[in-house]
Amino acid sequence: MRKYEDSYRHKGLRKKLVEGIREKGITDERVLEAINAIPRHFFLDSAFEERAYEDKAFPIAQDQTISQPYTVAYQSELLQVQPHQKVLEIGTGSAYQACVLAEMGAQVYTIERQKPLFDAVKKFSFKQKYPNIKFFYGDGYEGLPTYAPFDRVIVTAAAPAIPEKLIAQLRTGGMMVIPVGDKPVQCMIRLTKLEDGTTRREDFNNFSFVPMLAGKNV
Ligand code: SAH
Repeated sequence: MRKYEDSYRHKGLRKKLVEGIREKGITDERVLEAINAIPRHFFLDSAFEERAYEDKAFPIAQDQTISQPYTVAYQSELLQVQPHQKVLEIGTGSAYQACVLAEMGAQVYTIERQKPLFDAVKKFSFKQKYPNIKFFYGDGYEGLPTYAPFDRVIVTAAAPAIPEKLIAQLRTGGMMVIPVGDKPVQCMIRLTKLEDGTTRREDFNNFSFVPMLAGKNV
């Protein structure tokens, strides 16, 4: 059984990481505080633990990645999430992004299509700190119609196009943040759902995510 310990050294490294993210342009203090509060080294394979506070993406199981902290901060800031809002996340992965949103007070519903990753998260004891996260094994393209509507949707894998079913599950006035494109680099897009059911689209910076794939993987 792996022992999780958050030492002064880890906390010091984390503060530096947060300052680095601030210098790169993140201004939402609630996002920065959440990143400062969460021991990212808990989410990494012990082989990468030493490097957990570098502002880099790292491999997790099943050829997937834990997003770069700057990217997590960027998406979280664009999402403008308020406490108690219902947030749907597509792509649980390590659950780091889900914990950042939960730390900010959101009610998080997160979906993962890869069974081994979903099972690993179930055993991850740190998640007990966040009873406000619900974990689902399924295809994110379908969303979670039973729990809709959501105030916010965040997609943490690269979608070739904006999935219509996810727009349908967004509340009026709600927002979705999603990296779109099938090239190695995707554009971060924010959609706001308007009264008439159409969306307003804003384009932000380019990022590089693993692909959003259809169907479940056992
Ligand atoms: N948010 C994660 C990032 C994980 S990388 C973190 O903080 O660690 C993206 C994840 O999306 C991968 O785990 C991948 O398996 C998952 N994914 C890709 N397509 C998906 C889909 N259609 N439904 C649910 N999850 C999906």
